[in-house]
Amino acid sequence: MDVIVGGGVAGLSVAWRLARSGRPVTVVDPAPASGASHAAAGMLAPASETDYTEESLLRLGVESLRLWPSFAAELAADAAPAGDWAAMLDYRTEGTLDVGFDADDLAALDELASFMDKLGLPVERLTGRQCRRLEPMLAPSVRGGIHAPQDAWVDPRKVTAALLRALGRRGGRLVRARAEQVRPGAVLTEGGEVVEAERVVLAAGAWSGGLADVPVRPVKGQILRLRSPRPLLSRCVRGLVHGRPVYLVPRGDGELVVGATQEELGFDTTVTAGGVYELLRDARELVPGVTELELAESVAGLRPGTPDNLPLIGPHRGLTLATGHHRGGVLLAPLTAAIVLGEASEPAALCSPERFL
Ligand code: FAD
Repeated sequence: MDVIVGGGVAGLSVAWRLARSGRPVTVVDPAPASGASHAAAGMLAPASETDYTEESLLRLGVESLRLWPSFAAELAADAAPAGDWAAMLDYRTEGTLDVGFDADDLAALDELASFMDKLGLPVERLTGRQCRRLEPMLAPSVRGGIHAPQDAWVDPRKVTAALLRALGRRGGRLVRARAEQVRPGAVLTEGGEVVEAERVVLAAGAWSGGLADVPVRPVKGQILRLRSPRPLLSRCVRGLVHGRPVYLVPRGDGELVVGATQEELGFDTTVTAGGVYELLRDARELVPGVTELELAESVAGLRPGTPDNLPLIGPHRGLTLATGHHRGGVLLAPLTAAIVLGEASEPAALCSPERFL
C-alpha cells in the first residue's frame, strides 16, 4: 500500500492516479484541500508564472499543461461519469493576456515574448487597442500586451473536490488525522495509529519541512474573490502595475479572482488591510470596473517554496517527495503524478530531491 501524507492538489493527484492504476492508497490529512490549493487562482500559465532564469520550471510547466486536458477529462470521468468535464472543473482555455502601462512594462513583456519565441511557445504581441478589443473592460491606459493563447485555467477547489470523489470511487482511503511522524515504511498519526506502507509519499505542501529534512518554506499569498452578476473578463489578465504583478482570473459563475501577494512571513496567514488594499488598487489600474464588484472573500495561503523554485518530486531518504511546488502546484499536478508513477523520466530528473544533497 502507498500512504500519501497531505491531501492538497499534489497529494490527491498522486493518490488518485495510483488508485487508478490499481494500487491500494491511503491519504492522511486532517483537513484535505484546505491548504494552498484552497487559496490558489488555478492558472495553468507556464510562461506568465516564470521568469527568464527559470527555463527548467518553464519546461516542466509546458509539459504539465500538455497533460492537463487528458488528466481533467479522466478525473471528471472518474468523479462523475456522466458530467461535462470542462464545466465540472471550470476548465477554461482562452489563454492569458499580459498587459503593460509604460515603456518599462512593454520592454519586460517584449523580453518575455522573445523568450517564449525562443522556446517555440505560441505568443502574439498586441497594441493597447488590440488588447482592449480582446478585453473591452481593460483600462484605456493599457499600452500594449502579449497574448499566450495556449494557457488555460481551472477552479482548484473544484479540482480537489473531484479528486477526493474520484479517489473514493477508486477505492482510496482517507484518514482524517495529522501525521505526527513520517518515516520510510510507516506514518504515525496524531491519534496514535501507525499506518504501514510500502511507500510513503510526503505531499504536505508548506508543512513538509516539519515532517522531514526537506528545504521547503512557506511563502504567503493573499488573494481575493470578487463577485459580479456577469463575467467582466473572458480570459486571464495579468499586468505589471508600477513593477508590481497582479492578475485577474474569471470563473464561469461571474467570480473574479484577484491575486496575489508574495510574502516571506513564515506560517502567518493573516489577511491584512494593506494586502487587500494593494490588490484592489492594482486590479483597478488594470480593470477600473472591479471596484463595483462585491468583495466575496479574502484569504491567505502558504505556497511551498524551495530554494530554486523547482518542485521536489521523487525518492529522498526512503520517502517519496511530491512537494515544493511553490507558485505552480495546480499547473504541475498532472506531471507530479506522472513522475511519481514513473511515467515521466526526463522531467523527473529536473525535480529530483537529490539536487540538494
Ligand atoms: P497544499 O494545498 O498546501 O496541501 C497540503 C496539505 O497537507 C493540506 O491539505 C494540509 O492539511 C496537509 N498537511 C499539512 N500538514 C500535515 C500533516 N502533518 N499531516 C497530514 N497532512 C498535513 N498554482 C498554480 O499552479 N496556479 C495558480 O494560479 C496558483 N495561484 C496561487 C495563488 C495563491 C494565493 C497561492 C497561495 C498559491 C497559488 N498557487 C498556484 C500555488 C499552489 O496553490 C500550490 O503550489 C499548490 O496548491 C501546492 O499544493 P500542495 O498539495 O503541495 O499543498
